[in-house]
Amino acid sequence: MSDRDGKIWMDGQLVEWRDAKIHVLSHTLHYGCGAFEGVRAYKTAQGTAIFRLQEHTERLFNSAKILRMKIPFTPEQVMEAQREVVRVNQLESCYLRPLTWIGDKKLGVSPKGNTIHLMVAAWPWGAYLGEEGLQRGIRVKTSSYTRHHVNITMTQAKAVSNYTNSILANMEATDEGYDEAMLLDPAGFVAEGAGENLFVIKKGVVYTPDLSAGALNGITRDTIFHICQDLGLTLKEKRITRDEVYICDEAFFTGTAAEVTPIRELDRIELGAGRRGPITEKIQTAFFDIVNGRNPKYAHWLTPVA
Ligand code: PMP
Repeated sequence: MSDRDGKIWMDGQLVEWRDAKIHVLSHTLHYGCGAFEGVRAYKTAQGTAIFRLQEHTERLFNSAKILRMKIPFTPEQVMEAQREVVRVNQLESCYLRPLTWIGDKKLGVSPKGNTIHLMVAAWPWGAYLGEEGLQRGIRVKTSSYTRHHVNITMTQAKAVSNYTNSILANMEATDEGYDEAMLLDPAGFVAEGAGENLFVIKKGVVYTPDLSAGALNGITRDTIFHICQDLGLTLKEKRITRDEVYICDEAFFTGTAAEVTPIRELDRIELGAGRRGPITEKIQTAFFDIVNGRNPKYAHWLTPVA
């Protein structure tokens, strides 16, 4: 990914894509303490706009706070950096990656006295789990890896190090021919996907694991809460077991990258009719209407980049 034209925002400067480098002795590279965001900008009739920029930026600062890192920029500067990166790279719709890391002043576990940095990059990125996945649904495997315990890594931080667990789960699932992994919490209840929150639908009611299972508080997850209310659907956060997923009528993953991706199979067991369900489709349509600027009620969630 490094050999591209374009600009990356690094510590307040726009840097040539190829020159946006850090030293091999950077603290985060060795110990994994850093935080990031995944954000999307969509092409709307009113121009390109970043979806829920404020909430993503807030979560980045909260992640840094949890990790005891002080970002040397204000949230306003970081929001402006994200708008600038989309603008300067002339992207119509794209994925954005802000990341904060600890510098190369010294090594040793303690980051005290080290520098904190921030970068924002943006590039075009289509459907994370495939265009076909959005239509037909994906095949998922319950991971043999357990999701983080809430007092081992901090699960409300979108921390760099949390993703080793996601990588292992995703590689295991995809090596076995599945599209994505679903992880259980240390007590055996459903937590989330490797990079997605999970929803199941049973008898018209929408359920999602409550955050005590260690799932990230997804911004798409919150968007689904609003959509359910608009559609008159009852939504409940609760502990969910693996077998409750097996016998649900419909299921889907949500995430900034994954958007709303139906799940048609878990552990080779067909969920419902084994394809995108009718309620999932309604929610998915409402979601794409909102992010693409076709629902005026949520116009405030779209920040124009121009
Ligand atoms: N869980 C994990 C582990 C994730 O990486 C993501 C993607 N950020 C999500 C859930 C979904 O969060 P969001 O909807 O805010 O992208």
